[in-house]
Amino acid sequence: MLQTLRRIVQEVNAARDLEQALEIIVQGVKQAMDVDACSIYLHDNQAGQLLMMATDGLNQESVGSVRLELHEGLTGLVAERAELVNLGDAPKHPRYHYFPQTGEECYGGFLGVPVIHHRKVMGVLVVQQLASQRFDEDSVTFLMTIAAQLAGAIAHAEASGGIEGLQLSDEPNGNRPTQGLPGAAGVAVGTAVVVYPASDIDAVPERRTRNIKGEQSAFKKAVAATREEIKQMSERFGKHLPEGERALFDAYLLMLDGDSLVEKTLVRIREGNWAQGALRDTVREHVQVFDAMDDSYMRERGSDIHDLGNRILMHLQDNPRSRRKYSSDTVLVGEDITATMLTDIPVEKLAGVVSCRGSRSSHVAILARAMGIPAVMGADELPVDRVDGYTILADGYTGRVYLNPSKRIRTEYKRLQKEEAELSEELITLRNLPAETIDGIKIPLYANTGLVADIGPSLSSGAEGVGLYRTEFPFMLRDRFPGEEEQRQVYREVLEAFTPRPVIMRTLDVGGDKALPYFPIEEDNPFLGWRGIRITLEHPEIFMAQIRAMLLASAGLNNLKILLPMISSVSEVDETMDLLHRAHEELLEEGNNITFPQMGVMIEVPSAVYLTKQLARRVDFLSVGSNDLTQYLLAVDRNNARVAEMYDALHPAVISALMQVMEGAREYNKPVSVCGEMAGDPAAALLLIGMGIDSLSMSASSLLRVKWVVRSFSQKRAKKILDEVLEMEDSKSIREHLNGVLDEAGLGGLIRAGK
Ligand code: PEP
Ligand code: MG
Repeated sequence: MLQTLRRIVQEVNAARDLEQALEIIVQGVKQAMDVDACSIYLHDNQAGQLLMMATDGLNQESVGSVRLELHEGLTGLVAERAELVNLGDAPKHPRYHYFPQTGEECYGGFLGVPVIHHRKVMGVLVVQQLASQRFDEDSVTFLMTIAAQLAGAIAHAEASGGIEGLQLSDEPNGNRPTQGLPGAAGVAVGTAVVVYPASDIDAVPERRTRNIKGEQSAFKKAVAATREEIKQMSERFGKHLPEGERALFDAYLLMLDGDSLVEKTLVRIREGNWAQGALRDTVREHVQVFDAMDDSYMRERGSDIHDLGNRILMHLQDNPRSRRKYSSDTVLVGEDITATMLTDIPVEKLAGVVSCRGSRSSHVAILARAMGIPAVMGADELPVDRVDGYTILADGYTGRVYLNPSKRIRTEYKRLQKEEAELSEELITLRNLPAETIDGIKIPLYANTGLVADIGPSLSSGAEGVGLYRTEFPFMLRDRFPGEEEQRQVYREVLEAFTPRPVIMRTLDVGGDKALPYFPIEEDNPFLGWRGIRITLEHPEIFMAQIRAMLLASAGLNNLKILLPMISSVSEVDETMDLLHRAHEELLEEGNNITFPQMGVMIEVPSAVYLTKQLARRVDFLSVGSNDLTQYLLAVDRNNARVAEMYDALHPAVISALMQVMEGAREYNKPVSVCGEMAGDPAAALLLIGMGIDSLSMSASSLLRVKWVVRSFSQKRAKKILDEVLEMEDSKSIREHLNGVLDEAGLGGLIRAGK
């Protein structure tokens, strides 16, 4: 059964469009379950009805014509209750509704299961049989399993179907958005440029070409280079390999010389597909044929073709012709956009970012915010392999993405952008005013940086310093660890740009979702694994080079402070302190005159919350990393779009942890800052003011918004609001309450998209 299930799912995933995907499902299920009919109905959101989309067994005229309300018929009952219905004599059921065009009157046995995606009933999968008997347990569980597995694929195909012209309703696609998650504020309209990992045939997007000759010649060259490479490998290693392995080289050469792979790809290119896409389709076609075979040896051959395809692809991508040219309004789109992909493209060409994975607190979203680029994350239903070259609108406030947006949508968004610009214009007037509450409490606002590119925006936002300099970003932009001198220059640039204002540099925090291309870490649970200080303490050679570079960079400026990430026990602080003192002494011995910097730790792991006093005793300041603290306290992966709704720094547990940190730090008179994204959220900032936070650090784009909040309330009032919030039991009511307060105080522009 598992084999059948796998095959159907694979075929559905490879389907050209929604129509083909649904055909594959009904035919595959009918055959696998040996039933008389299988049909699929999808929920038409616009009309609020169920529409029959495909059938194998009922009359074909019913496809696209049988529509039922949710309160109608047995299929409606399945959708309405979001539960399966299994009947032996369907026509006798009071909810039975007869559609003459289906020809289903002869069927007694009915089994319907809902297709549910993200808690929403997307449709109903129905099987019917002549025999008047209920379906057995095996059939029920098979259908349930397949419906659960296919829900995502159907959602995906439905979104693609929109592009290919198959619609559930008549509304043009340009008005129907794909829903993702807000990543970075702002609205981007531009040309979608799909980025994808290299040498991965399955990641190649759809792209049309007019340059048939050029694409064919590039493909032939890549095939020739692959042939040469395999020949060389065979000569070099052949003698040392057992016969079976040696035969593989010959098999690869045969496949390259035979007509099938090469010729079929050339035909596809002639039809207008670009070389990489044509190769992908030919490889897929071959793999499917092998996969469907019962013989496991033959199935293995499918993976050989796949491997060969990747080799040819690598040579195709090596061709300088295939380097992408970016238009000036590029909206970067990808299955999983990484921070490195973002920094690969010239910033002046980047209009927006849309990633199918990740969420607001992923590092790529943080980077986009730092660069002031609108971003949508977690748009997992976007048919990413088919959108290259489309006009795309990404709404970073609500997470909506429109392909080929209609005129009406564009006009609406233009208005929003205008309002947004007006708000920014008004906020500019606050730039040189102090961040001080009505009752005179100063709350310095700092900027989070990490790239040379965001020094400018941070300075012009009026930041009073840098509250978090993420040193891993410059590490990510290289292809090897930067040396001490290289690092010193990078750090010096930031320290000089802000002097005499303080700059808090965090030591290398890689791991989790921040991988270095040249230092891969393979782990089952990267966020609970080798991250931040855990890595650097195990690699003192990397750590010492970094802290020496920081200290050297601060010579004569004395505005450096050092912050340690991912601290979960006091021994990590003690060990780091030893290394720091050692580095400092070495530098003094080498004749440098360097002041020992202030030291702080990040509170971003629950254990650190409980150890606040012990940590505060050891260091000069504390900085709360609310991004990780929220993820670890709530057990919600900050990077996972599926659980993103549960991720909220305004959760009462996070607020209570913060209260505990404030109390512990006060005992030792040590200042507390928040440098996670929470600090840049106007509603959360209001609470933090109430808690008596000493400073806040955020992306430059949020700074003036938060300054507006600081200047609009007294700390006394903020304390009262905090007391009200402490009575509340869930983040939704807390956010609603805080938004209400901001609105009443005339700051509604901060919480609504646009103004
Ligand atoms: C945090 O966790 O809140 C933080 C500021 O660090 P990062 O987002 O880089 O993990
Ligand atoms: Mg963190």
